[in-house]
Amino acid sequence: MSLVGQLHRLQQLDLELQRNQQELNEVGNQLSDNMALVAAESRIASQKEQLEDAKKKQKSSEWELEDLQEKIRQIDGKLYGGKTKDPKELVNLEREVKGLKSQIRTKEDALLGFMSQVEETDARVKTTAGELERLRKEWKQRQETLGPRKSEIEIVLADLKGERNRLAEQIDSEACNIYERIRLTTAQAVVKVERGRCLGCHITVPTSQWQKAKAGSLIQCNNCSRILYLE
Ligand SMILES: [Zn+2]
Repeated sequence: MSLVGQLHRLQQLDLELQRNQQELNEVGNQLSDNMALVAAESRIASQKEQLEDAKKKQKSSEWELEDLQEKIRQIDGKLYGGKTKDPKELVNLEREVKGLKSQIRTKEDALLGFMSQVEETDARVKTTAGELERLRKEWKQRQETLGPRKSEIEIVLADLKGERNRLAEQIDSEACNIYERIRLTTAQAVVKVERGRCLGCHITVPTSQWQKAKAGSLIQCNNCSRILYLE
């Protein structure tokens, strides 16, 4: 293989390495991206807290109602038990019952509110639980498919790196340096000449130049400095 042929092959390997490295990064990102899962887990935790809270409020509201009803029962006992005769006291007791009944209505309204809160929150918890299950399944599948893919790419990369290093050792070091310098500014350091034009910048290459390049010498384009390659 001519010097320029070697550099061209080196470039192929470098591009291939770059492509595989990019894919490896993407696979790595996808494998570690659990943001949706973490978000759903924290959402369900706070929804469960809300549910517990609503249930507690419902319970204590029910107890408060029972207390009020018990109070009414006691007063009713005094009112209709026949023991209390004093009219003034009877009026007071009736007023007390009226007050308690009004409290009960307010409490009942609140209880209904808590009950529907429990129902709504419970439905939200169930929805999130379903979503969480789907996300967990998806996560597991992703690990199962992308995990092996990651290993495959790593093997390909190791092979490519080995081949690249072996080739680079065979290439004249000065030529290698020129190649590396050009690659700092452009991915394609070695370009073909087609119909007399450099495919890097599309400027016509003098005949003497491309003939030397065709013979395998390291010739750089006068315009863009890329290494010219002719098969
Ligand atoms: Zn050029």
